Amino acid sequence: MKKTAIIAAVIFSSNLIAQNFDALIEQKALNYESNVIELRHWFHQNAELSNREYKTAEKIAYILTEIGLSPQTKVAKTGVVAVLKGGKPGPVVALRADIDGLPVKERANLPWKSNMTGEYNGEKVPVMHACGHDTHTAILLGVAKILYEIREEIPGTIKFIFQPAEEGAPAGEEGGAELMVKEGVLKNPDVEAIFGLHIWSQINAGEVFVRPKGIMAAVNEFRIDLEGTQTHGSTPWTGIDPIVTASQIVNNIQTIVSRSLPLTEAAAVVTIGSIHGGVRSNIIPESLYMLGTIRTLDESMKQTVLKRLEEIVHNTAKSNNAKAKITYQVSYPITYNDPELYKAMLPSLKRINGEDNVHLMTAITGAEDFSFFQKEVPGMYFFIGGAKKGTDPKIAAPHHTPDFYVDDSAMLTGIKSMSILAIDYLLANQ
Ligand SMILES: [Zn+2]
Ligand SMILES: [Zn+2]
Repeated sequence: MKKTAIIAAVIFSSNLIAQNFDALIEQKALNYESNVIELRHWFHQNAELSNREYKTAEKIAYILTEIGLSPQTKVAKTGVVAVLKGGKPGPVVALRADIDGLPVKERANLPWKSNMTGEYNGEKVPVMHACGHDTHTAILLGVAKILYEIREEIPGTIKFIFQPAEEGAPAGEEGGAELMVKEGVLKNPDVEAIFGLHIWSQINAGEVFVRPKGIMAAVNEFRIDLEGTQTHGSTPWTGIDPIVTASQIVNNIQTIVSRSLPLTEAAAVVTIGSIHGGVRSNIIPESLYMLGTIRTLDESMKQTVLKRLEEIVHNTAKSNNAKAKITYQVSYPITYNDPELYKAMLPSLKRINGEDNVHLMTAITGAEDFSFFQKEVPGMYFFIGGAKKGTDPKIAAPHHTPDFYVDDSAMLTGIKSMSILAIDYLLANQ
């Protein structure tokens, strides 16, 4: 990590060089915009589910080869990785695009509408790029093309990471960013910083939204098992009631956020989304279980929530003479934008997109598996608008829904932003 170098780079003595690259990238992005749009339509029409992105990966590898790169395939099952060595020595930066679709039936009547099907949980389902990962894939291929063309001028190495299964691997399978990291995608050559973007249907095209530190939440899913003593509902004093205990736990854990966290720092959520217990009105059951999720945007707040959850659940159960067991299930780290990297790269985003088009956003309590890369190396994740300019983005269909739509005019911002972030990072840290 070259954090001091990153800060020094803010001053950017090579302003002239940077501006030359700006003009070059602007021009090349315009030249390849229609190619990227065409590719995006292809990926959209050929949407595939997580860990099943076979045709998608094949197409990515084909285009990368056509560009002049030598892609590595089958990384973390269906991922594709290519390394571009610049003509001058320098650090290694990674750019990441996720490539998977979702089991959603597309409703919009577009010429490039998806009619794909796949198998999800043993059922045949329609498949659609309902999160816009088709745009990420096409954008990164455009970026690869542009950077390849100017490779002689590039001081360092760029790793293009096409990542499968961002939406989550099928039950019982590994996948996504976590598996890519496990398979060593950030090694050989060792990546020093990583950038990733997400299209957003409810932001106008041309706009960029970003923030330092926690931008998307960590997820910790948990299950609480309560054990009491079964008895007749008419004589509750002869048993131990897990239902009353569960009610107290649900209420008591609400004080984790409201009474134990520094709320002006960052948001946090503790939700119980499901309770299973009992069969009829006059039986107090022996046991029950609850499922919940924790969302945090700050590591120390996350540790506080986990600690308080243990204390409250076990002590509440104890006060009722019941027994409690907490098991943790899915967990995602915080999508955490390294503050120094953010400070160093924000000027690049503003320069290439126009100062007025780059906005400080509030954090999102949803999660993103880009966080697994950021756990290993400093990274920056940001959002670009997908709604057609002049439309009201607030009424645009949300992600993961049948009417989800991203306008073609959104691609340019992505191509320019990713290209300039890679170049400016390498220039600043050579
Ligand atoms: Zn999604
Ligand atoms: Zn997504």
